[in-house]
Amino acid sequence: MVFTPPSWVPKLPFSPPDSIPTCDFMLEEHYGRHPLGYSNNPFTCGLTGKTYSSLEVRERVDYLARGLAKELGFHPNKGSEWDKVIGVFAVNTLDTLPLAWATHRLGGVQSPANAAYSAAELEYQLKNSDAKALFTCVPLLETAKEAAKKSGIPDHRIYILNVPEAFTGGKGAPKGMKTVDDLIQEGKELDRLEKLDWKDGDGAKKAAFLCYSSGTSGLPKGVMISHRNVIANTMQIGTFEKPYRDTIIKDLRNQSDYTENVLGLLPMSHMYGLVVICYASVYRGDGVIVLPKFDFTTTLQATQTYKINTLFLVPPIIILMTKNKPLLAKYDLSSVWSLFTGAAPLGKETAEDIQATFPSWKIRQGYGLTEACAVVTSTSPDDIWFGSSGSILPGTECKLVTIEGNEITGYDQPGELLVKSPAVVLGYLKNDKANIETFQDGYMRTGDKAVVRKGPNGHEHVFVVDRIKELIKVKGHQVAPAELEAHLLTHPAVNDCAVIQIPDDIAGEVPKAFVVKSSSVGLEESDRMIARDIQKHVEKTKATYKWITGGVEFIDEIPKSPSGKILRRVLRDQEKEKRKRA
Ligand code: AMP
Repeated sequence: MVFTPPSWVPKLPFSPPDSIPTCDFMLEEHYGRHPLGYSNNPFTCGLTGKTYSSLEVRERVDYLARGLAKELGFHPNKGSEWDKVIGVFAVNTLDTLPLAWATHRLGGVQSPANAAYSAAELEYQLKNSDAKALFTCVPLLETAKEAAKKSGIPDHRIYILNVPEAFTGGKGAPKGMKTVDDLIQEGKELDRLEKLDWKDGDGAKKAAFLCYSSGTSGLPKGVMISHRNVIANTMQIGTFEKPYRDTIIKDLRNQSDYTENVLGLLPMSHMYGLVVICYASVYRGDGVIVLPKFDFTTTLQATQTYKINTLFLVPPIIILMTKNKPLLAKYDLSSVWSLFTGAAPLGKETAEDIQATFPSWKIRQGYGLTEACAVVTSTSPDDIWFGSSGSILPGTECKLVTIEGNEITGYDQPGELLVKSPAVVLGYLKNDKANIETFQDGYMRTGDKAVVRKGPNGHEHVFVVDRIKELIKVKGHQVAPAELEAHLLTHPAVNDCAVIQIPDDIAGEVPKAFVVKSSSVGLEESDRMIARDIQKHVEKTKATYKWITGGVEFIDEIPKSPSGKILRRVLRDQEKEKRKRA
């Protein structure tokens, strides 16, 4: 049974936009974009108020592209996109998206890395993506330099994205290092670039972004996201939202030319921050209030100062809100009408709690994944059902299949969710095995278990009920068990190991390690000491959110299938039983 969007969801105005080349063209041409066109300010700093109008953003993109072309020797029509990969390792900045668009003008690819990465993690991505240059920001410079050096990127190909001095403690870019502003100044003196000579349909084949995801199993892999994927999901979101933008918001604000301010706090290195927040907002003509990093009071202050209307958040931040109500009460949050959450499940109780505090807010949930270039399903403000991830987006088809591969033909029956959509990505870079496993018969396997239920008003809602794939989500960030297991095996006390997720009140989930001790471990060493040492081993080289905060448990044998595959499900079930008994 193929599940499709409910009848009230408008059709995409046109099917896959093959004729649209690169995704930066959305800025120049309308394609149904918000009629205010260039008059709005797409990006404003939530700390300083510094802002760029659409026109300024266009100019900056143009000059930056010229500056980059000279600096890196990139030519719009020479070389493949894979010869022109630019790594980005930075907190959110006003120039993060303009840099992507400048890269696209040169026919290149932006590969954004999580700003929490250690040097070793960044090095893996830079090498795997074969990045030719790296953009970073002052607070992350040392880590960036270390990773760049080990990846063969020379110092003169490291550039600085500007962040507010309030955030860097007054520290500017070191002497001799070029900033985005320097490149823009240089670009102003240079000739116009040749236009891309792409044919219709090229934008569907060429990558715009290379983001990292572990998919259904194994190590993080480069996900090749085409220009058309980004445009398609942006349009899917825009089309899905049109009915309520035309009615609810108009009624709420009593303004026909209403534009929104949205919270741009979540990392632009992740599909949620990149497509759902940045692309979809720019397309609508909304303003993104950019914050470099999560800090509770700064976020509340920015919401009050910039009269933010939509808060894009992840469940751990919403949980924090429910636990800090006196702090919330100190700020005027009356501009907010909508709270959108995604990247991990939001518990029904948490949604109810926040709704009780802010009865007028529309609390919406979206479900998506990197491999679907962001959103697959979303609740609409007039069809909210707590716990549900909402309706299927226009232009998208879903199926549910049992473990045996049989198609589910009714409601309320769980199965793995398969997705078909013009936003489903090109595949994983240099990884045929993962591509064959994930992309089958025109559908993409999500590795998530879902059910479709009929809501009180008769509409179909998708509920994500479990995760089948080997992925841990800590505060919405991906943690690949295979990556931690490979690292744990380098510790002398570890003979064998398996990592699973366990529930956590704030983070949603955290990793827990099961370890078979190596025979070389001395009898005099206590399990507590060894466990702590193993945890420290991870803390030395991995981002904080990957730390084994769920603890280390020693066992005699790791359960495995006859072919040697770790049976994490067995450990997860045992753990659940233990928790029930406790
Ligand atoms: P990422 O590729 O980092 O966006 O991670 C995608 C994964 O996050 C999905 O495959 C799900 O396992 C999980 N996820 C995202 N949104 C939701 C949601 N609303 N409810 C439950 N899980 C979610």
